[in-house]
Amino acid sequence: MGYGLGHSPREGVFLNGRSNWSVSSHRRGLEGENAIVFKQLWRCKALPSALVTAWRVLENKLATRVNLEKRGIAVESPLCSLCRVEVESNNHLFRLCNVSTSANEMWGVIQTAVVSELWKHRNNVIFNGGVVDGLEVVALVQVKAWSWITSKPLSGLFSFSEWCLELLICMMMVS
Ligand SMILES: [Zn+2]
Repeated sequence: MGYGLGHSPREGVFLNGRSNWSVSSHRRGLEGENAIVFKQLWRCKALPSALVTAWRVLENKLATRVNLEKRGIAVESPLCSLCRVEVESNNHLFRLCNVSTSANEMWGVIQTAVVSELWKHRNNVIFNGGVVDGLEVVALVQVKAWSWITSKPLSGLFSFSEWCLELLICMMMVS
């Protein structure tokens, strides 16, 4: 049995009247071209409510202002709740909005560091007899992402320990 989730408008989760929704039931039902992405998503060790939100972003089913209007629900304004400049679509809110840009840039740096460190770790295992150590990869990703971000002009304003302990504050400093 999966995690039972209730209706939670605060988190943008709309269950279309179903009270017995579960992560596992949706996991079983997902097929098609996004199957690999969904598979990775469900393996992620995030809270079920965060997984549902991420799934709804992928499916364009969050209650953005554009989607609410499509459902015939009156909204105060179609403009983005964060920047109040562009129409609040799924694409705008999570990819194009200038408020989300810094978070997306940070995510890009971290993803690139993950790929880089995994490849180095893999080669070390193959060519140098290195031992497979997932925690070491995570630690090196953290160091690499920090070093890349703080190498930018005017962004060397926080230490590595601040980067580890106060990620959000560091992100605001480089945005
Ligand atoms: Zn916006």
